[in-house]
Amino acid sequence: MARILTGIQSSGLPHLGNLLGAIQPAIELSKNPQNESFLFIADLHSLTTLKNGTERELYVRSIASTWLAFGFDTDKNVFWRQSRVQEHAELSWYLSCFTPFPMLANATSFKDKSEKLADVNAGLFTYPVLMAADILLYNANIIPVGKDQKQHLEMAKDIASRFNNLAGEDILVLPEPLIDERMMTIPGIDGQKMSKSYNNYINIFLPEKELKNVLKKIVSDSTPLEEPKDPDTDITFKIYSLLASETETETMRQNYLNGGYGYGHAKQALLEIILEKYAEPRRLYNYYMENNDELEGILKTGEEKARIIARGTIEKVRRVLGFGA
Ligand code: ATP
Ligand code: MG
Repeated sequence: MARILTGIQSSGLPHLGNLLGAIQPAIELSKNPQNESFLFIADLHSLTTLKNGTERELYVRSIASTWLAFGFDTDKNVFWRQSRVQEHAELSWYLSCFTPFPMLANATSFKDKSEKLADVNAGLFTYPVLMAADILLYNANIIPVGKDQKQHLEMAKDIASRFNNLAGEDILVLPEPLIDERMMTIPGIDGQKMSKSYNNYINIFLPEKELKNVLKKIVSDSTPLEEPKDPDTDITFKIYSLLASETETETMRQNYLNGGYGYGHAKQALLEIILEKYAEPRRLYNYYMENNDELEGILKTGEEKARIIARGTIEKVRRVLGFGA
């Protein structure tokens, strides 16, 4: 049986990139009876970029509601909030002492974020260590990730090997990334990687009017309506093609190439496909957002399941390090 683990930060509202790059593939995998899925809301990670507690609470609820809206089965699998299982933070400290400084200094994602964010704190720098702890606590074998997370997975393996070397036995299980090569990094409305912290994201749960306004902001060039357009460099087309069927995509491609088809038309088509494709998740999402007690109950049950496994790992690690079990 494979144990699969996925986390999503509560650093903002869940977006189309999270959905296509992480949430939907993870839910698909969780449906296989051979698999056991561990899904958590990475609220500790979100502290690197978000300090406001009230906002964090909202985002935790929103992300949890998203998993449920897309049909994640919380009876078969494990579903919890990272901060409620304190072993994540504890293991992270132990592992940080097995992490070479240059390895973190070379992380692309850190370099990227430190150029874009005003608050470049140490948590942002040691983020891959906490991520390694998240994975290793649960002996997870398979980690489905977007391409942006591949390097962090390599680090988790490296850190685990260093610890196992010291222990003289394989206490920590080396995880493998599962990267869907077809799944590119989804661009945000500005063309950069769609990211909660870049504020360039598409939240598919917005009411229609607001969603339409967000899509209007997708950056495009100034080619006039009547002229032919290049679909391969246009962000709206790129996002549309990730949601539409091959035939629908081909039709839009031809429209671009023929001319007489404006970016406004493409954005309207994108709006329609989002509303149609995600009608049921949109309904369920609102249900869970309105029924907080039910949501809390589900997370609490998951937390208890997660803690038992996390404690098992921490006890072994503590023993090796001479901290007692
Ligand atoms: P933050 O900006 O706070 O880092 P994020 O939007 O990058 O947030 P994460 O919580 O870091 O989201 O990532 C959750 C999962 O979603 C990861 O597996 C990540 O690979 C995937 N993911 C995030 N953004 C994208 C994207 N634009 N395209 C594809 N997958 C993505
Ligand atoms: Mg991220």
